[in-house]
Amino acid sequence: MSRERCTGPLTPEELQKRLQELLRQSFPGGPLFASASASSEKPPATEPPAGTPPPTPPAAEAPLDLSQFVFKPREVKAHLDRFVIRQEDAKKVLSVALCDHYHAVRQSLAGRELGNYTKQNVILLGPTGVGKTYLIRSVAELIGVPFVKADATKFSETGYVGGDVEDLVRDLVRRAEGNVDRARFGIVYIDEIDKIAAASNVSGRDVSGRGVQTNLLKLMEETEVPVRAPNDMAGHFQAMMDLQRGGRKQPTTINTRHILFIVSGAFGGLEKIVERRVREATIGFAAQAPIPTGESSAGSETLARAETRDFVDFGFEPEFIGRLPVRVVCHQLSEADLFEILKASEGSIVRQIEQAFGAYGIEVLFQEEGLRRIAALAAAEKTGARGLMTVCERIFRELKFELPSTGVKRFVVDALLVQDPQAALERLRAEQVREQHATLRSIVHEFAERFGQSYGLTLRFTEEAAEALIAEAELAQRPVRDLCADKFRDFQFGLRLIAQNSGQKEFTLDAAAIRAPDQTLSEWVVASYRQSPTATPAPAPAT
Ligand code: ADP
Repeated sequence: MSRERCTGPLTPEELQKRLQELLRQSFPGGPLFASASASSEKPPATEPPAGTPPPTPPAAEAPLDLSQFVFKPREVKAHLDRFVIRQEDAKKVLSVALCDHYHAVRQSLAGRELGNYTKQNVILLGPTGVGKTYLIRSVAELIGVPFVKADATKFSETGYVGGDVEDLVRDLVRRAEGNVDRARFGIVYIDEIDKIAAASNVSGRDVSGRGVQTNLLKLMEETEVPVRAPNDMAGHFQAMMDLQRGGRKQPTTINTRHILFIVSGAFGGLEKIVERRVREATIGFAAQAPIPTGESSAGSETLARAETRDFVDFGFEPEFIGRLPVRVVCHQLSEADLFEILKASEGSIVRQIEQAFGAYGIEVLFQEEGLRRIAALAAAEKTGARGLMTVCERIFRELKFELPSTGVKRFVVDALLVQDPQAALERLRAEQVREQHATLRSIVHEFAERFGQSYGLTLRFTEEAAEALIAEAELAQRPVRDLCADKFRDFQFGLRLIAQNSGQKEFTLDAAAIRAPDQTLSEWVVASYRQSPTATPAPAPAT
């Protein structure tokens, strides 16, 4: 039994009263509250006179307008198709259940409660990483309702060891940024539900799966959950302070009537129970078609035929299973499906990788062969689409670390890169160095061209000269254009003099000229005087 239950938990109202009492004793005259109210621009909270309409909540806190829920199942499915590959049954069934549920909510909000309406809570059966969470998150986003996910294994019967199932509902409020009105229509998703089947509960904890089922059942039916956990002192205190500051009084409980519950699990062993039942029925009445065996999809085909009594045999309470009327199977994903996810899903990890590199100005092009190779590696992981994340993390780990610090601006993800990312990184680096070198060579030749244009001459660098300039600039860690400007600052005068003396207008600088430009120029000038019949000899070149 829980400690709280032994001592008797306080209701939030009692707790608030006691806290107020405590604060009043600690701060006679109420300086804390007085200053809090005074510093607030809002008027102090007072009860509105009877008959006054409730104030309009601020837009950000406005309740979800589910009274305008207009989606049709096909539209919901079309939205899911953009993100979730395969799982056609699940997409259809979920779309219908979702629409049924929120149309019923709409009717209820309009005061037209459907008499014997059964809430369309869902059981999703299927292995890990095949898109169960993704489906639910995607529909929650489409409809705009808060969504929480938890593993059933973290709950205990008492809520003392592990979590309390009511925390799920409180988490919805948190997801709705404290807006209880929005949280009322949220979706609670509980994975690994098969682990709380009584028959499989051999963990030796002080709790039984049956107890957790009972607690969940209460939530799935209809109950009022305190918005703040009884032991959440800080939360209660905060709420009280908010109220004292003149904030809007938030509801203290949240009703679970309109919360949609979706549970899921791999249900290993359930197929054997179904097979046995079907076999017995086949022997007895030759009524049902025998289940195909020996195919990889046989497991999910069998699971698709699970009935309430199979779940009960598995270890669930009939009432619990009865509250989950919608059942659908998600299938294992093949290598071809994984390829399709990479290629076509809007939420594909490929987009994520593109964005990650894009943040550094690096463009990535995924080639089909590269994607196929990733899909093959992921399929070998046997964790569904989760394998895609594992494999991509491994492939792009070094590239993500190194490339942003290089000048690489684009690369292609082909089969070679997937096969050996380290070698691809080395290739990219080498290519980058080559590219950079080519750019620098162009800069050197462009300098010569501009120089020639400016002074009506033709200046050329030999390839060796260009290499020598690049090497010198690299050594000095300076831009090669600046180095050229410095090195050949006096060349305009010298070369024009030579042109006057000898009529020579074309000059080619070799590596030796780069090493000793001034000496080269002097020698050229001297030589030009020798060639010129009219010119007076030049002074000896300065050393
Ligand atoms: P689980 O079935 O265990 O709940 P998830 O839905 O959490 O698996 O899948 C993990 C991730 O793998 C998803 O976030 C999504 O990116 C990808 N994924 C899984 N299944 C699919 C699918 N059928 N189509 C597209 N992406 C998928």
